[in-house]
Formats: sequence, C-alpha cells, structure tokens
Amino acid sequence: MKSFILIAPPAAGKGTQAVMLSSEYKIPHISTGDILRNALDDSDRGKYIANEMASGHFVSDEIIIELLKERLLQSDCNNGYILDGFPRSIEQAKKYEEILNELNSNLGYVILLEVDKTTAMNRIVGRVSCNNCGSVYNELIENTKPKVSGICDKCKGSLAKRSDDNADTFETRFDTYIEKTKPLIDYYSNKNILYRVDSSLDKNSTFDNIKSIVRDN
Ligand code: AMP
Repeated sequence: MKSFILIAPPAAGKGTQAVMLSSEYKIPHISTGDILRNALDDSDRGKYIANEMASGHFVSDEIIIELLKERLLQSDCNNGYILDGFPRSIEQAKKYEEILNELNSNLGYVILLEVDKTTAMNRIVGRVSCNNCGSVYNELIENTKPKVSGICDKCKGSLAKRSDDNADTFETRFDTYIEKTKPLIDYYSNKNILYRVDSSLDKNSTFDNIKSIVRDN
C-alpha cells in the first residue's frame, strides 16, 4: 500500500506529478478539484461549489469530506492512491486521520512541492488541460507545450483553460494557501513524515526526486 499526499501552492505542478505517480505506481490519482468540478450541476450544492471555486475560496469541509470518503471507499484505492489538493488545512488533515482510522489505513508519503510565487503565477497564465484525460500542458513554456495547440498529445482530446486560472483568482488562491495550507507544513514536519521537493525544476527532474524519496524510505 503506497499513498501520497501532495502539498503545494497553486500551479506548483501537483496535478502533473500526480498523473506521473499514478502511472508509475499504478494507483489512482484523486484530485479534490476534479471531484468538485464533476459535482457541478443545477442543484444548490452544485451552484455553491461553482461560486466558491470561481472566486478561489475553499469549498466547505463537510462537502469535501463527504465526496472524498465516497471516493476512497472504491476498490481501486485498496493499494494506495495519490491525493492532489487535499488536505488543504489542519482541520482537513485531522478529519482525514479519522477517515484513515476507520479504513485501518495510514498516511503514507507527504510530499511538499516548493515553488516561488512568481514561477507559479507564470505557470498559471499559459496552463491548459485536456477535457478528456486531464493531462496538463503550458502553451507558453517550451518543453510543456502540446505538439498541436489546443489538442492533447496523448488522447487528441481538446485542451481548455480552467476558469479559475487567471491573475485575480490566482492571488486569492495563493493567499488562501499561505493562510490555511502552509500551516500543514509544520503539522507534518512535526510528525517527521514531510519530504520537501523543489518543484521549480522541469517536471521530470521533480518526478525523479520524488521517486528517489520513495526508493529510500
Ligand atoms: P485545485 O484543482 O486543486 O486547484 O482546486 C480548485 C478549487 O477547488 C480550489 O481553489 C477550491 O475552491 C476547491 N477545492 C479543491 N480542493 C479543496 C479542498 N481540499 N478543500 C476546499 N476546497 C477545495
């Protein structure tokens, strides 16, 4: 059983690394952002989620925990999974430990992807992702461009920009990260289970660093 928690500011490459880890270790990639995007519908809950996401604020813990628990109970999670975008606060980390106790499971690797604010902002501006398979590209960064603009290299699906990938929402998401998510660094450091990885490098170097952590620990 191999599970990962990825902690990072917005646009640090969490999604990209999660996809690479998922294929390397054959375990599912669970993105709470994607789960929420799939829960957007005409219901009051769907509209509430859309509003919070569009403004860069957190969706309530109650909704996140309910959706996450539902996902973790699926059988493809039995050998581990990669959490991308959760936990995002100390409160969520504590609730997650309660879920793990219920499932008789453990925390696994907690990986912090470190990147400075300017690099993250530059990544946001050109980021596009595949509507079909979720692969992420950057139209403005040479070695991460798709071969054909607007088309996914892997599945030929169409590439779209996320509605919350703009400078204003980025500022709110980054501030929220500093206020709510950064305290998790101390929380997991104090438990001696936090691994730091430089995520300003290209995606393959970052990935090699994560794999060597797994090999050595
Ligand atoms: P992400 O795709 O991880 O960048 O998440 C996009 C947006 O979904 C965030 O800005 C939040 O509005 C919401 N979201 C994702 N994960 C969580 C979470 N664990 N707790 C609260 N809100 C979340």
